[in-house]
Amino acid sequence: MNIRSIAVIGGGTMGNGIAHVAAQHGYDVTLIDVSQAAVDKAISTITANLDRQVKKEVLTSADRDATLARISTSTSIEQGAQGADLVIEAASERLEIKQQIFATLDAVCKPEAILASNTSSISITTLAAGTKRPDKFIGMHFFNPVPVMKLCEIIRGLATSDETYATIKALAEGLSKVPVEVQDYPGFISNRILMPMINEAVYCVMEGIASIEDIDTVMKLGMAHPMGPLTLADFIGLDVCLSIMEVLHDGLGDSKYRPCPLLRKMVAAGHLGRKSGKGFYAY
Ligand code: NAD
Repeated sequence: MNIRSIAVIGGGTMGNGIAHVAAQHGYDVTLIDVSQAAVDKAISTITANLDRQVKKEVLTSADRDATLARISTSTSIEQGAQGADLVIEAASERLEIKQQIFATLDAVCKPEAILASNTSSISITTLAAGTKRPDKFIGMHFFNPVPVMKLCEIIRGLATSDETYATIKALAEGLSKVPVEVQDYPGFISNRILMPMINEAVYCVMEGIASIEDIDTVMKLGMAHPMGPLTLADFIGLDVCLSIMEVLHDGLGDSKYRPCPLLRKMVAAGHLGRKSGKGFYAY
C-alpha cells in the first residue's frame, strides 16, 4: 500500500515528535489530541524544534515552512483520521484509552488503512484483537526525542500480515529510521533489556553496594553508556519504570523481573525523577 497521509493520535512528548518527522519527510499529517490546548502546545513544540534545526543549518527555512504547512490539526478522531492511510497512536499509556481510540479508528478509517501503536508496554496482539483488522495492526515504537533517535522497533502482533510489516518497515526507513523486527512479547527488545538493568541498579542502591553517583559512573566509564542507569531512570520517570517492570513480571511470570522494593517506595513517596523535582538526584 502507498502511504501518503498519516494521522497521529496524541500530541504529547512522542506524538509531536512523530508528526514532526513524518511531515518533514513529505507526508501529509493530521495531529489529533483531545483538547485544543494540547494541539496548540504540540504545534508550538514542533515549531520550536524546527527553528532549532534551521539554526543548526540542518534544515532550510523554506523546508521548515513546508513541513509546518503539511501538518493540520484536529480535536476529533472521527474527522481527523477518516482519510488517513496510516494512523500512529501515541496517546497516554492506558489500556482503556487506547482500546477506545482503536475502536473509533476501526469504525471510521478506510478498510485498507493501517493502524499502529507507539505503546511502550501494552500488547500489540491485545490491541489488534479489539479491531476487525488485526492483520493491518502493528507496533511502531519510536524513541524520545523522535527527531533525533534513529531506532524504531516494529512489533508484529500475532495476526500482523507480512504485507503490513513490509509496508511499515519501508515507511520507517523512509523516515530515516533504522527499523528492527520484534515479536510481540512484554517489553519488546528495548524495555526487556533496559528496565531489568535499571531495576538491578536500584537493588544496588537499596543494598548499599555503592553510592548513586558511583553506580552511574561504573556504567558510564566502564560500559561507555552515555548516562548512568539511575540518571536515566530519573529522566524516564520512576513511575514509568515501575509500571514497565510490572508488565514484564506479570507477562513473563519470572521472579527475576520483580520490581525492586526501593523503586516501589520511591514511587509511593512521589519521588518520580525529573518531572517531580526529586528522584535519585534532586532537580
Ligand atoms: P504524553 O503524556 O506526553 O502525551 C499523551 C498525549 O495523549 C497527551 O497530549 C494527551 O492529551 C493525549 N491523549 C490522551 N487521551 C487521548 C485521546 N483519547 N485522544 C487523543 N489524544 C489523547 O505521553 P508520551 O510520553 O508522548 O507517550 C505516548 C505514548 O508513547 C505512550 O503509549 C508511551 O508509552 C509511548 N512512548 C513513550 C516514550 C517516552 O519516552 N515518553 C517512548 C516510547 C513510547
